[in-house]
Amino acid sequence: MSIVRVDGSRKVNLERLDPGDTGDLRDKKEATILFKIERERIVRLQERLYAERSQSLLVVFQAADTGGKDGTIRNVFKGVNPQGCRVWSFGVPSEEEAAHDALWRYHAHTPAVGMIGVFNRSHYEEVLVVRVKELAPKAVWKRRYDELNDFERLLANNGTRILKFFLNISSDEQKERLQERLDDPEKHWKFATGDLEDRALWDDYRKAFADAINRCATPQAPWFVVPANRKWYRNLVVARTIADALAEMNPQYPPEEANLGNIVIPN
Ligand code: AMP
Ligand code: MG
Repeated sequence: MSIVRVDGSRKVNLERLDPGDTGDLRDKKEATILFKIERERIVRLQERLYAERSQSLLVVFQAADTGGKDGTIRNVFKGVNPQGCRVWSFGVPSEEEAAHDALWRYHAHTPAVGMIGVFNRSHYEEVLVVRVKELAPKAVWKRRYDELNDFERLLANNGTRILKFFLNISSDEQKERLQERLDDPEKHWKFATGDLEDRALWDDYRKAFADAINRCATPQAPWFVVPANRKWYRNLVVARTIADALAEMNPQYPPEEANLGNIVIPN
């Protein structure tokens, strides 16, 4: 699998990773079969996690515009019991959110025991868009790397497993996807002219992504850099990584009540 796990033991150079990589898979057909197997594993393990109610999983997605955050979430969590899974998308902070400390709105949506929480954009925006668009002074966003690590340590210490995915697309791929949004009337709603402003800042965003990944990678909250130009490969490696993490968490059904075998259901 050509997904790269970053856990702080070594630095990763984003520009050396190929967004078009498809590992040892050559076509979509094979990947789709394997993908469905991984999705089934997620569905089964999620049921145990929910029944066990002692640990939780937080899955973070970050990417450039058109990077595939929405599509990945839609595909990978298909079939999961909606009762045990919550997806939160973070946009420009509301007035109330902006009146609090930067992590307040994210902390409010971290998963409770038994739950899978999915963040479509996340606390990392505080060192991504905030840094690139200079929405806060440098002294403020610089100290956020430590704050993000502290925040994740708090969550991990309290039983939350954290997986952070950076969906790595190339600049050319983004150009094509933005063009598709213009060409297809059904995709017009996704097109925001602000995306072009962000595209013009591509290099600044890449530096900000690289710093976020390298400065906030720990064994308890690793980053995964996903080759994301090919959607079928992206879906497969993300699903497999999540299924493997859930398997490692090894959630167990709680002990049953005693003597269930002797119970007779009354008429
Ligand atoms: P979308 O994901 O397409 O719905 O867009 C959400 C927008 O919200 C993006 O343009 C982000 O840059 C922006 N956004 C997300 N988090 C923040 C934040 N903390 N401060 C400012 N803008 C943000
Ligand atoms: Mg958008």
